[in-house]
Amino acid sequence: MNKQIYLDYNATVPLLKEVKKSIINCMEIGPLNASSIHFYGRKGKDIIELARKNIGQLINSNKNNIIFTSSATEAINLLFNNFKNIIVSSIEHLAVLSSSRSEHVIPVNQDGIIDLNFMELYLKKIVKNDQPTLISVMWVNNETGVIQPIQDVIKIAKKHKCLVHCDAAQALGKININFEELELDFLTLSGHKIGAPTGIGALIYNDKINLTPQILGGGQEKGMRAGTENILGIRGFGEAAKLMDNPLENGCNNVKFLRDFFEERIKKLRPETIIFGEKANRVSNTILIALPNIPGDLALMKLDLESFSVSSGSACSSGKISKSHVVSAMGYDKLAYNSVRFSFPPNDAILYSENLISTKELDRLARCWSSL
Ligand code: PLP
Repeated sequence: MNKQIYLDYNATVPLLKEVKKSIINCMEIGPLNASSIHFYGRKGKDIIELARKNIGQLINSNKNNIIFTSSATEAINLLFNNFKNIIVSSIEHLAVLSSSRSEHVIPVNQDGIIDLNFMELYLKKIVKNDQPTLISVMWVNNETGVIQPIQDVIKIAKKHKCLVHCDAAQALGKININFEELELDFLTLSGHKIGAPTGIGALIYNDKINLTPQILGGGQEKGMRAGTENILGIRGFGEAAKLMDNPLENGCNNVKFLRDFFEERIKKLRPETIIFGEKANRVSNTILIALPNIPGDLALMKLDLESFSVSSGSACSSGKISKSHVVSAMGYDKLAYNSVRFSFPPNDAILYSENLISTKELDRLARCWSSL
């Protein structure tokens, strides 16, 4: 019987041991509702503020301008409900594409990188100075792992007086994020992508811009997101952020070594494999590949039978793989049902806290792929 190998960390990272411990400790304190005035209420409030500080430190934002939500998806919806004019890139996550309902879409090139020339010309054409416009570009693509030139995006956007949102759900824990240094207005994050539980996300906001809440009620989160706080989720998110502190310092070299080893084996054993975004700047943990005549769902099922848990990278409902809009947007429409994503732990800290994946197992995986 083969050991079960999980290579779907971009979907969700297993709850980290230290995070689990911190949540259990929190549960043992007692009944924590941060709105209460008494001892337990104050304890609850302290826990939330500590988590805000930890997350702030991870992304270099010390203004406490963090609103906790139930997910990155909710944070994005909260933000987008405040804007009529939203411009997005063609490879955004569905959380952005669906909630923006935008018809203003900036294309990407074959490497999956946003077309900055198109963006510049497009903004010149459509942005009207009397109407606030929000540009939403993700930092790291969830399917390909390609890193977007966020600094350039911000520079062009600011030239045209646009506000900028960056979906950093897949960047957190993989690359350094410096909210203060960049002229970013909004950033959204997801706890379960760095080893916190699911059900917790955050919106980081520019405190010079007034936002209207989407969920009304008791005035929690400075009135921006009502509802008694998910204190266990928040505690877990804060602890995970503390463990991730400075991913580049923690390093991603070992993750990269494993991903590159796998990539090399695949190229050798099945040279016709297409690696999406191969030439682009990618995060170390992700590889999205396809074979011209092998549908992704068939590949996933065969790999699952061999004990490898991987994914198509694109949205998947009732067990059926949908077309990857990312692969399509990169100009590979014919392969849009064929892509398979292998995502390793986001960084070396998580790689070590998990069962180490060996090159022997990756070699077996590459052989399985080559026999498809
Ligand atoms: N944005 C990106 C790039 C993602 O990969 C995901 C989750 O897969 C999300 C947003 C949504 O995150 P959440 O699960 O917290 O809603």
